[in-house]
Amino acid sequence: MAVFGRAYTSIAALAAAMLLTAASMHPGAVDEVAPGVFVHIGQIAEPYRDNGGDTSNWGFVVGERCVAVIDTGGSQATGAAILAAVRRQTALPVCAAIITHGHPDHLLGLASVTGSRAGFRAIASHRLPAAVAARTQTYRALAQRQLGLEAAPEIVVPGEQVNGEATIDLGGRQLQLRTWKTAHTDHDLTVYDPSTQTLFAGDLLFVGHTPVIDGNLAGWLAQTAALRGLGATRTVPGHGPVVDGKGWQAQTEYLSGLRDAVRTALRQRMPLQRAVETIAAPAGWALTEVFHRRNVTAAYSELEWEDTD
Ligand SMILES: [Zn+2]
Repeated sequence: MAVFGRAYTSIAALAAAMLLTAASMHPGAVDEVAPGVFVHIGQIAEPYRDNGGDTSNWGFVVGERCVAVIDTGGSQATGAAILAAVRRQTALPVCAAIITHGHPDHLLGLASVTGSRAGFRAIASHRLPAAVAARTQTYRALAQRQLGLEAAPEIVVPGEQVNGEATIDLGGRQLQLRTWKTAHTDHDLTVYDPSTQTLFAGDLLFVGHTPVIDGNLAGWLAQTAALRGLGATRTVPGHGPVVDGKGWQAQTEYLSGLRDAVRTALRQRMPLQRAVETIAAPAGWALTEVFHRRNVTAAYSELEWEDTD
């Protein structure tokens, strides 16, 4: 078996990069990671009935006038938990929900958050609606099955779109929204709070949870350099604990190791099926059994068209 990468450079290095290890199982538990910046760390697991879709991170930022929610978890129940969590911290209204990308574990809670007040805005990349539309029935059926629901959940798509950069004002606090070239998906969007140098990276960053390629491997590695260049002192990943600037390193090693192993396989004219069987996942990542083979397939399909000589 060709094992690539060194897992984490060391587990200790990863632990040092974590700014907190909040792993409360409560679906509405939050930590104030910086003044007015609250984060919930979802379980590192696939969605299923017992975790209620609480398998991704979300957070909210409190301004002087209103609150912006960033991602909404993977069920209507997580959306309701978010509103309750906001209410425990502030009486200010929720004026925006910002969705980092359209995967159901980040989007399905929006149905509960939307419409909580007049003037509420739901915001995402300009490419999210098409990406979600192409998979709506798949996502609904999958969520119904995984979460054990009686009916397939409705999917609400944000009505306001960003292409490039945008700013939203929460009163005395401005959040910077930015879309990226194809990386984790073709419609990734990040949220940066300059007042606390906190970056909500969505699934452009996985910590502990195997990264999932649903966009472009080479693009993801290229965008990572730009993401790190933003100078955030604290990054909230889409999955796993909040990290400092070093928290990107393990993912970069996973992705670049995968790229190198697949390139080697292609140079050897190895068929896809054999590459999937022989390119093993490095140690130290959760859920490799679910996602790693899929990543090898995605990388193979992408890289077989590049010039490998
Ligand atoms: Zn995702």
